[in-house]
Amino acid sequence: MSSRIRIAIIGGGLAGAFMANALKKISHLDVQVYESAPEFSERGLGIGLSRLALQALEEIVPNATDFLKKEAKAVAIGASRIVMGSGPEAGTVVCDIEGDTGLATTRGPLLKALLSLLPKDILHAGKKLTSLKQTASGVDLTFGDCTTAHFDAVIGADGMHSTVRKYILQGEAEEHLASPTGLWECRNLVPVEKAKAALGEESFEVDREYCWTGDGGFMMHALVENGTMVQCIVSATEEDSPPDRRRKVTREMLENAFARGWLDGPVARGMIELMLDQEELIGYSIWDHKRTPTYSKGRVCIVGDAAHTVSPYQGAGGGLAIEDALVLGHLLGAISSIKVIDAAFKAFDVVRRPRCQAVVDSSRATGQLLTGQDSQIGIGAVDMGKALGPLFEHIDALDLASHKQMALDEFGKQVDLAVSIIICTVNRTSTMIAS
Ligand SMILES: Cc1cc2nc3c(=O)[nH]c(=O)nc-3n(C[C@H](O)[C@H](O)[C@H](O)COP(=O)(O)OP(=O)(O)OC[C@H]3O[C@@H](n4cnc5c(N)ncnc54)[C@H](O)[C@@H]3O)c2cc1C
Repeated sequence: MSSRIRIAIIGGGLAGAFMANALKKISHLDVQVYESAPEFSERGLGIGLSRLALQALEEIVPNATDFLKKEAKAVAIGASRIVMGSGPEAGTVVCDIEGDTGLATTRGPLLKALLSLLPKDILHAGKKLTSLKQTASGVDLTFGDCTTAHFDAVIGADGMHSTVRKYILQGEAEEHLASPTGLWECRNLVPVEKAKAALGEESFEVDREYCWTGDGGFMMHALVENGTMVQCIVSATEEDSPPDRRRKVTREMLENAFARGWLDGPVARGMIELMLDQEELIGYSIWDHKRTPTYSKGRVCIVGDAAHTVSPYQGAGGGLAIEDALVLGHLLGAISSIKVIDAAFKAFDVVRRPRCQAVVDSSRATGQLLTGQDSQIGIGAVDMGKALGPLFEHIDALDLASHKQMALDEFGKQVDLAVSIIICTVNRTSTMIAS
């Protein structure tokens, strides 16, 4: 190739950063990243990367595990125990999940570490994409500051409310916006002594995460920051979701949410006190993408939450974004000309969409199960324990090597298809001219 293929990544969150790292080592690509916020940053929430997510990241960032332990204070994911939190079985263990299956870190330091591996001059903050248009020569971008840019191709990593997604889905976009899962959650980070006083010493005798499941809600607490702090999460069902997903949470709301057999149990009253121990408690409705008809349109495609917003119940959204980056990087590394970018994006769509939608669906199902909303399973330690395994198994069962190969095979098919369409069109045109 005489000149490098110019690719814009829209969005400098984790998906954009994984993508940029996957593409930066491909010598025939010139990659630029545009972030709407005044600076590249992430909220300080915890994030767990599963064994498979980490395996995929190791292919993108060599020695990723050691790098993240050093640069993002990542630690091995600990063991967790799921326990009944409501009803007659309150306190009964549902199941134990072994630890050391991946890495846990916080998003801010993770993003910072990933961005530190990229050349500074490819990162453009304060650039909100407002519109895009495909032309015969590529994609024209317009930003909120009235500047424009032209690229050969565009990858949208611009999150749940993605502008690039709306462009790709066009008339179908409204129908496929992210929508409520029927659950909301709130969080707090508290000193370990406070958590022990509220929840009892016995919950901290073994270094493991506790998830409490029951009727209408779910609670979780885990030691973080070298055992000095405890991350507390409370999730419950909702009938209505605020349009911006945010709601101020009060004691009354929490007590109502956990009224069904929780308040006499071992954990709810303590967790409610821990939640309210902050200046203002804000809860967020959990939304996801129920269906996405396609991830690509010509030379534009979407990755990460823009393509598949996932609820947090399996901690899998970040991992999917890493897999996206690995597969799309593999495809774009194989292209030999601008003319086949759309075939690479189409192959990405064909291979990635079923995989990602399966995880979006299993994550939502896990949230419903853990809050007692699965009408088939109901609320009971034995049945819930049996149902959880199959919901999680497929996440780390993906064979990355075959998945990448499937994407390359599909790319070949898409290129052949494009060539046969061109030949047919040429033949038809010649026949018309001849007649
Ligand atoms: C509560 C919660 C807990 C989670 N826990 C886990 C976990 O433990 N493990 C895990 O793997 N995943 C987890 N996830 C999912 C994970 O956080 C996301 O999937 C991941 O962060 C990928 O995000 P993203 O970069 O695609 O989107 P975002 O984080 O939304 O980033 C999008 C970026 O694009 C920018 N942007 C938006 N519009 C424009 C525009 N028009 N122009 C330019 N820039 C734009 C935004 O400012 C933002 O920086 C969790 C999610 C939630 C909500």
